[in-house]
Amino acid sequence: MPSLAERLRRSAALARAVLRARRGPFDPFKLTWILTERCSLTCRSCHLWAGDPEAGPDLEEIEAVLRANPQLTWLNLSGGDLVERPDAPGIMERVARLGRDLALVDFPTAGLDTAATLACVRPLLESDIPRVYVTVSLDGPDAVHDRVRGQAGAARSARRTLRALQALRRPGFRAVAGMTLSRHNLPEQFDPDDAGADATLDGWLPDEVDPADLHLNLAHHSGHYYKNHASVVPPIGPALALLDRVQRRTPTSLSPLALIERRYWSLARRFLTHGDVGGGCGALRASVFLAANGTLYPCSIFDRPLGRLADVGHALRRIPELPGAREALGLVERRACPQCWSPCEAFPTLLLGLGRVR
Ligand code: SF4
Ligand code: SF4
Repeated sequence: MPSLAERLRRSAALARAVLRARRGPFDPFKLTWILTERCSLTCRSCHLWAGDPEAGPDLEEIEAVLRANPQLTWLNLSGGDLVERPDAPGIMERVARLGRDLALVDFPTAGLDTAATLACVRPLLESDIPRVYVTVSLDGPDAVHDRVRGQAGAARSARRTLRALQALRRPGFRAVAGMTLSRHNLPEQFDPDDAGADATLDGWLPDEVDPADLHLNLAHHSGHYYKNHASVVPPIGPALALLDRVQRRTPTSLSPLALIERRYWSLARRFLTHGDVGGGCGALRASVFLAANGTLYPCSIFDRPLGRLADVGHALRRIPELPGAREALGLVERRACPQCWSPCEAFPTLLLGLGRVR
């Protein structure tokens, strides 16, 4: 657990990194890193499982990336389900040891294996990283989750893992349920004037999860990452109704994360109704996406490869040397990309002060 001095030092490093990103591109403070495409589930809203999923970088390459980027302050480690990697605790041990300035590390899991998830998070909890967040995916009541995720009993396992994580006590650690709103877990129609509307909305939520511990997310289309189709997007009316319901039942908090999350959702309402948030995006400035095969992309959505990180010595600050970097940045800045409001990039965008409605 970090001392107060270490927490302050790393928070200051994050603040400086945000300022650097405001001044210019290609010095991202957040890396979204896909450590494997493998996963035991067969979700309807993500088709990573359908092709030939990448195993992901080995420990040697992971160390190389971490050593080449000591300036990173925020790591979002993802998959597939990285917890399923047998060496996941070893990965986290390296993250904890080599991420000198890391102020925040977060990762999602389907929560199928409670013991493996606890083993994975332990090195982070014992580290000097001030904030560690784990999201356990839960897409609705058990029957809905199991149908959407393609495995009977998946929800029960996820809820067990969430409970085990929430029993851990460590300042700066938080485990929440992540519900991805898509056309697969929300009905097409919803009548808010119906006498039983509230009960109907409650019936869409995961069983036994406190709304304060529930983080909603919007399903997106991504050819290079999820390998899914545009038809995953949630129906607007039901998504807005559910969002209202969850927000009404979530206690007000003035924590920085809660404030950013509120801003995220006020713009998400605009995204749901208009298809964009009307503001700039921090991809390639605040954040960048590293695929499981070592290829960099501006973000999780835009299928515009920049090149291979290994070709620039794994150093993110050398991204401008990659063949596709400057053109991709131009497209992002002109908003000539698919346009999305994916939280992976939206949260860093909001930290950067972008995402404002024009
Ligand atoms: S959404 Fe997550 S759990 Fe589902 S198939 Fe994709 S990687 Fe696996
Ligand atoms: S708006 Fe979305 S798709 Fe476009 S660059 Fe930003 S994160 Fe990527």
